[in-house]
Amino acid sequence: MLHWLIIGGGIQGCTLATYLLRQKKTSIQQLGILDPYEKPLHKWIQNTATIQMPYLRSPSIHHLDVEPFALEKFAKKERSKFAASFTPPYDRPSLELFNEHSRVVLEETEIPSAWIQGKAVGIGRKKDSWCVSLENGREIESKNVVLAMGLSEHPLWPDWAKAVQQAGGKIDHVFSHQPPDFDSLTPPVVVVGGGISAAHTSLRLCRMYPGQVTLITRHHLRVHQFDSDPGWLGPKNMNSYRIIKDYSERRKVIQSARHRGSMPIELHLALLREQKLENLVIHTDQITDVQTEPSTIFFELESRKQMNAGSVLLATGFHAKPPGIEWLEPTLRDYGMHCADCGYPIVSANSLAWAPNLFVIGALAELEIGPVSRNIAGARRGADRILQVT
Ligand SMILES: Cc1cc2nc3c(=O)[nH]c(=O)nc-3n(C[C@H](O)[C@H](O)[C@H](O)COP(=O)(O)OP(=O)(O)OC[C@H]3O[C@@H](n4cnc5c(N)ncnc54)[C@H](O)[C@@H]3O)c2cc1C
Repeated sequence: MLHWLIIGGGIQGCTLATYLLRQKKTSIQQLGILDPYEKPLHKWIQNTATIQMPYLRSPSIHHLDVEPFALEKFAKKERSKFAASFTPPYDRPSLELFNEHSRVVLEETEIPSAWIQGKAVGIGRKKDSWCVSLENGREIESKNVVLAMGLSEHPLWPDWAKAVQQAGGKIDHVFSHQPPDFDSLTPPVVVVGGGISAAHTSLRLCRMYPGQVTLITRHHLRVHQFDSDPGWLGPKNMNSYRIIKDYSERRKVIQSARHRGSMPIELHLALLREQKLENLVIHTDQITDVQTEPSTIFFELESRKQMNAGSVLLATGFHAKPPGIEWLEPTLRDYGMHCADCGYPIVSANSLAWAPNLFVIGALAELEIGPVSRNIAGARRGADRILQVT
C-alpha cells in the first residue's frame, strides 16, 4: 500500500509531490503519481510549446520547488545557458528555464520513479485507505489520495466550431489532444479568442503567414499583468475571502477577481505592432454566422462584416466543469462529500480534505485557495495546506 497517491502529474500534482519529498513527509518508495501520459508535466509542456510562449506570466518565485528562490539560484548556477532568461516586470522566467528547472527538480527528487501511467476511473474507501481503480482494471491502494486533475485536457469548443468541424472545415483548438500542425494550415487563418493564448497564437502565425492572419475577439483586448491581482496571493485579499461562508458568493468573488481573457502589456503592444505592419487584422466583434464550404469557412460578424478563412484556430480556453467529476460522482454519493452550487468541492480550510485522507489541489481546491488556485502559486499554497496535516 502506498502512503500517498497523487492523481494527475501536471504542475499541481508535481509541485505537491516535490513538497512531500523535500519536506520528508514521505519517501519516493511510498509515493505514486498516476497520470495517463508517459512523463510528468505533459500537458503543460505541450500547450505552452504549441502557442510558443517565450516567458511565463508568473514571477520567478512561482515554480515547483519548495524554496522560493530556487529557480533564480538555478539560473545563476547555469548562467552560461540561461544568461538572459528573465524578463521584466517581476523577473518572469523564460519557458525554457522554467522547464529545465522543473526537469532537474523532478530528477533530484526521483519523481519519475514514482510515475504510474494510467487513468483513474473510480475511488472507494477500504478500512484505513482508499482504493483507486484504473481504466486498465488495475487497483492501487493508498493511505492518502490527492485529486490533482486539471483542465488542460478539456479545451472549450463553441457550438458553431463543432458544426464547422462536423462539416469538414479546417478547424482546430490550440489545446487539442494532438496539437494543430501550424505548418499545414491553409491561409488566410482566423484565430478566435481574446486572451493570452490567442495573443501568442496570433503572433506565432504572423511570423509564418504575415498579412494573412485575423484575430476575432468578442471583447476589447484587456491588459492585466497577471490573471488576478497579486493581493490574492496573501492576506490583503484572502483575509476577507476566507470569512465568506456562502460558496456561491465565493464563486462570484473568484469570477470577478480573475482577469479572464486578458494579457500583459507587452503582448498587447506586440499585437498592435503586427496590426500596424499589416501582418494582422484584429476584429473586436461577435461571430453571428459561420458557413463551411469544402476549402473555405465563411464568417459573418455582428457588425455585418464578412470574412473567409482557409483554417481556423480556436484559443477559447477550457471547460468550466470540475475535472474528474464524472468518475467521482459515485464516491461523492457514497461518502456524503459536498459540492457547492457551481459543482466544485467544499473542502476543509486547513488541509483541503474533501473526505478523510482524500485531498484536492489546483482547480478542485479553488473555493478554498481562491482565484490563484489553478496557477503555479496556487499549487504552492495548496501543497502548504495539505502538508499541514501530515
Ligand atoms: C498556455 C498556458 C500558459 C500558462 N502560463 C502560466 C504561467 O505563466 N504561470 C502560472 O502560474 N500559470 C500558468 N498557466 C496556468 C496553470 O498553471 C497551468 O494550466 C497548469 O498546467 C495547470 O496544471 P494542473 O496540474 O492543474 O493541470 P494539468 O496540466 O491539466 O495536469 C493534470 C494532469 O492530470 C491528468 N489527469 C486528469 N484526469 C486524470 C485521471 N482520471 N487519472 C489520472 N490522471 C488524470 C491529466 O492527464 C494531466 O496530465 C498557464 C496555462 C496555460 C494553458
